[in-house]
Amino acid sequence: MNILVVEDEENIAKILRFNFEQEGYRVSVAGDGRTALNLHDSASPRFDLIVLDLMLPEMSGYETCRELRRVDVDVPVLALTARTLAEDKAQAFDCGVDQYITKPFALPELLSRVRNLLERRRRTLDRGVTTRAVQDVERFGSVAVDFGRFELRNGDEVHSLTTREQELLRYFLKYDGVVLSRSRLQSDVWRDSAEITSRSIDNFVMRLRRMIEVDPAHPRHLVSVRGTGYRFFHDPDQDDGDDMANVTDAETI
Ligand code: CA
Repeated sequence: MNILVVEDEENIAKILRFNFEQEGYRVSVAGDGRTALNLHDSASPRFDLIVLDLMLPEMSGYETCRELRRVDVDVPVLALTARTLAEDKAQAFDCGVDQYITKPFALPELLSRVRNLLERRRRTLDRGVTTRAVQDVERFGSVAVDFGRFELRNGDEVHSLTTREQELLRYFLKYDGVVLSRSRLQSDVWRDSAEITSRSIDNFVMRLRRMIEVDPAHPRHLVSVRGTGYRFFHDPDQDDGDDMANVTDAETI
């Protein structure tokens, strides 16, 4: 996890850096608000926590936090300050500070707050990944493929997919109705890996058929094209009149 320390007092910045690094975090330090905002803009990967002194030269910590919130509403901000007045705390929260610790601070308390904020951050990021993944679902016939979960549902059945099965299925879905030769699958899905043979492509197709077809011996979605390869139909009923599909329906591997 990456922490940005915004602190103009070098001694404090040094102590913070040392202790955060001891905890295994990566640390960047900025001596003023403008530098902090620039670092935040260019940071890759992004900072997971900003420890922000509120008493900074030129641009104050409050202003820095307000600016920061215009571009990043998510990154946790832990404010450090000598001020203890309630209205200062209120102002800090108004600017988008998440937590507040007053100087002089006890290091164990600071570290424990940092750990908590980072843990929360990690969970938010994990959830973000899951949320995006959940949207990565494709449906055809009675099948729903959840690419984020490597999961294929067909009615009541749930199958786990391997990475390669998933890539192959995604490729078929992308080229709905297109005749795909084994050599094209080999080059596009397996990227010409030496281990793959025509026979193993056929085995992958067979496994996919068992998951997606009502009768894998008479496939309707994933049909063979004799001597060439395969053809996937998102909606086989619409393609019933298609010559190629009729020729190939009977052939199974
Ligand atoms: Ca200061």
